[in-house]
Amino acid sequence: SSALIPHNASSNSIPDSISPLPHASAFAAFGLRAPVLRAVAAEGYTTPTPIQVQAIPHVMQGRDLLGCAQTGTGKTAAFALPLLHRMTDPAQTKRHVGPRVLVLAPTRELAVQIADSFRVYGKYVSLNYGVILGGVSQGAQVATLRRGVDVLVATPGRLLDLMSQGCVPLGDVETLVLDEADRMLDMGFIDPIRRIIAKLPAKRQNLLFSATMPAPIATLAGQILRDPAKVSVA
Ligand code: AMP
Repeated sequence: SSALIPHNASSNSIPDSISPLPHASAFAAFGLRAPVLRAVAAEGYTTPTPIQVQAIPHVMQGRDLLGCAQTGTGKTAAFALPLLHRMTDPAQTKRHVGPRVLVLAPTRELAVQIADSFRVYGKYVSLNYGVILGGVSQGAQVATLRRGVDVLVATPGRLLDLMSQGCVPLGDVETLVLDEADRMLDMGFIDPIRRIIAKLPAKRQNLLFSATMPAPIATLAGQILRDPAKVSVA
């Protein structure tokens, strides 16, 4: 049973029969679509981490989010699961040429890790994932973009490169995720990020994750996020 629900809570607690958290998986209580829950179960996750508990409902609703969390807290699933849920909404199957979700990450390693997580959590839905990063030849990345991706994970430098060559259609982006924003600042990516954001549709969902909130990140967050839900884990 879940650690999140005290078993012997006070007399006005909800009876087990209509408990909002089914015993099968506490993840089911979020209302995530079945194929997403299957992937979570296949990974052996039974209990959402604190950042997941706090973030998933907001992201599912399409809200902007400011997340204070480090890698290792389960933050990738905190945004990937609800975004996969949203992207597989049968009422939202509009045609698109470019990615619907754009994730920006500071390093190649993190970008690859995030894309791998989307593939794992998205293995029972039919979406395509792509990664764009520097230091390798761009041919395969351009080919992937031509085939079409639903989720694009990128490091800012190479993405700007390909954008300037007209290879990255960003007009269909519905959600922007900035991951490890403080490290992007350290690596000099704030200006590139601003130039990328300038090319995105104005109406979109924005999620910003950062382990720390130095002033330039707080400023960036204030400029990008609209009425964000704020979640924080130690
Ligand atoms: P992250 O902070 O996203 O890099 O995730 C850290 C690690 O925790 C990854 O190896 C995930 O597979 C794992 N993880 C994420 N969420 C859960 C969960 N709810 N239960 C167990 N493991 C998880």
